[in-house]
Amino acid sequence: MIYPWLTEHWSFFLRCLEQGRLAHALMVEGPAGSGKNALATAMVAKLLCSEQLPEACKQCRSCKLLVGGAHPDRFEIQPEEDSDVIKVDQVRALIASLDLTPWISARKVACIHPAQSMNLAAANALLKSLEEPRGNAVLILVCSEPARLPVTIRSRCQSIVVSQPDRQLVLEWLESTSAKPRDEVSAALKAAGGSPLRAARYLDSPECDAYGQVQEGLATLLARPGSVSLISTGLAELNPDDLWRWLSMCTGEAVKSVMAGMAASWVPAGTCLQAKSLLELQQQANFNRSLSATPIRGDLLLQDWLIRWAEQSI
Ligand SMILES: [Zn+2]
Repeated sequence: MIYPWLTEHWSFFLRCLEQGRLAHALMVEGPAGSGKNALATAMVAKLLCSEQLPEACKQCRSCKLLVGGAHPDRFEIQPEEDSDVIKVDQVRALIASLDLTPWISARKVACIHPAQSMNLAAANALLKSLEEPRGNAVLILVCSEPARLPVTIRSRCQSIVVSQPDRQLVLEWLESTSAKPRDEVSAALKAAGGSPLRAARYLDSPECDAYGQVQEGLATLLARPGSVSLISTGLAELNPDDLWRWLSMCTGEAVKSVMAGMAASWVPAGTCLQAKSLLELQQQANFNRSLSATPIRGDLLLQDWLIRWAEQSI
């Protein structure tokens, strides 16, 4: 399925394919929850399908093998279970497989995701392959942080950029796929920072109210700075990636309000916040978010951050 905010990207891909202008290497770029993985998956299926339809037919032998995970011309690499990086051996094995003639489809198709996980040796090995493109293979690099990839790789890929979609379009899509009322849909999209698939996940789970819980916790701390330990325990239950993003969003909202000379609706009346310290807190929240997948103790980071937040009202 092509999400409504991706129809233009899809049309571009189809036009390139039909006109024989599709590059041997594509890079699908976009933030988390934007649907870039779904777009890449649909591209893989279309490139392998034996029917000439606007999307993969889901009926032919190729499509059935793909659904069963047994398509011999489809390859995928991602970090192995015990690792955060895509290693050079994985890339070398992939390149060797792509050199063989396709078994049942017109071409071989490989997906590398997230492409920014390639370590330097892996990226160099891939670069060599991009310099000598193979006639019957298409490589799709799926990437949320293209800046982490060498320029030499990016410049050899045809780029398809999925940016933050139009809010109204996403609201309509969320309403058509969820039974929740408009205000809940709108709150979920706000909590998701505009990301459609993340908002859909929130609407499907109790996390829908969690952004409000974070705002409430921060407001409580401004009124009662001594309750850090209590608030911290409650917030530590949330997914750390979501939590730090929400703390960053709340702080950003507070900065905007201070700049505009008014208080954010959830900040207790009479609290005097300073833009400078809010900006520092926001930067710290963004940095702590980048640590959420590391062994660093998240509970300590959170307590420290909340103490600094509470100090603003003292
Ligand atoms: Zn098919």
